[in-house]
Amino acid sequence: MLTEHVYVAIGSNIGDSATIVAQAMEAIGHIRGCELRGRSSLYRSAAVGDIPQGDYINAVARLDTELQPLDLLLELQAIEHAYYRNREDERRWAPRTLDLDIVLFGNHRINDSHLVIPHPEFVNRRFVLEPMLEINGDLYIPGYGSLKYLVNQAPALEMEKLASSHG
Ligand code: ADP
Ligand code: MG
Repeated sequence: MLTEHVYVAIGSNIGDSATIVAQAMEAIGHIRGCELRGRSSLYRSAAVGDIPQGDYINAVARLDTELQPLDLLLELQAIEHAYYRNREDERRWAPRTLDLDIVLFGNHRINDSHLVIPHPEFVNRRFVLEPMLEINGDLYIPGYGSLKYLVNQAPALEMEKLASSHG
């Protein structure tokens, strides 16, 4: 069975975000057809955008999956919903209990109404790039370059590394 290497960005800034992110990491590892292959530490980062809100807790999970991209998205959205994510506030960059984004799905390039991969913002998000670098310091992303290079050119962001996500 063909498996793909996937990176999922995890973020939360409502509730007990460190616990929510750590539990989401476990839940991702239990999706059928997925195997958790790498987990970053937890990071704290300042929220981006004009809406005043609390800091985020972020992490990245690396998976091997047999699922199709849209099926993985549905599984991740089911985990988001399990944390009662408030979908009434659909403003961009609004605070959220749990946000799970597919950053990379192998070398796939997808651009449809439900899924854009690579995630269009990942190169600007130090809170995604640094956890990815922790998992795989040698990652090369076709069309973008080495992850090390991307981290070096990413915009500065107030952020700190916290404990490992193992609890
Ligand atoms: P955002 O993560 O952009 O702040 P949401 O989490 O509310 O916002 O996502 C809104 C929609 O983004 C989802 O319903 C999903 O269909 C779409 N989407 C597009 N590309 C991706 C991706 N790479 N990972 C996760 N969701 C994505
Ligand atoms: Mg999202």
